[in-house]
Amino acid sequence: MDKALTITTIPPAKEIHEEDRLLSPEQRQHAYQMFSKFLNKEGYRVTSERFKVLEAVLDMKGHFNADELYATMVTNKTRTSRATVYSTLELLEKSEVIFRHNFRSDCSYYEVRFDEPHHDHMICVSCGHISEFVLPQLMDIRKQVAENSGLNVVDHSFQVFAECDDPNECPHNK
Ligand SMILES: [Zn+2]
Ligand SMILES: [Zn+2]
Repeated sequence: MDKALTITTIPPAKEIHEEDRLLSPEQRQHAYQMFSKFLNKEGYRVTSERFKVLEAVLDMKGHFNADELYATMVTNKTRTSRATVYSTLELLEKSEVIFRHNFRSDCSYYEVRFDEPHHDHMICVSCGHISEFVLPQLMDIRKQVAENSGLNVVDHSFQVFAECDDPNECPHNK
């Protein structure tokens, strides 16, 4: 009989704090290069509007949706339109500058792609706070799941939805 998978052997996930993930000037430069290369290759116009959106994206910390990005740009008096923000986010995802996530809500969330190990997400259903964690064991599990069906693993997405005992006292809600 196959040995049952004992999840109790999984050590606590190493949490990443999105506030700590600041981009270096080199990473920003790299994102600009990736995006302009993509636009040229795919025949999109290289417009200053698109790069203004990229700049605003690189200034966002952690995970954000299109409306939050648009609101930030309006607050910072960057001239743009909602349509430009939406269409540029689509292009940034295609060019692999950003990731898009659907956290069980109608709107997509985005984040800048870092050259780092795969991370997964925990979403607080009380306040919507999104935290990240790295669990190396998931790399073995996903590989095994795919190989059991004769496939090669490409990617995975693991989302934990959690709530506090008392939502009014949610530590993320303060
Ligand atoms: Zn919370
Ligand atoms: Zn993330």
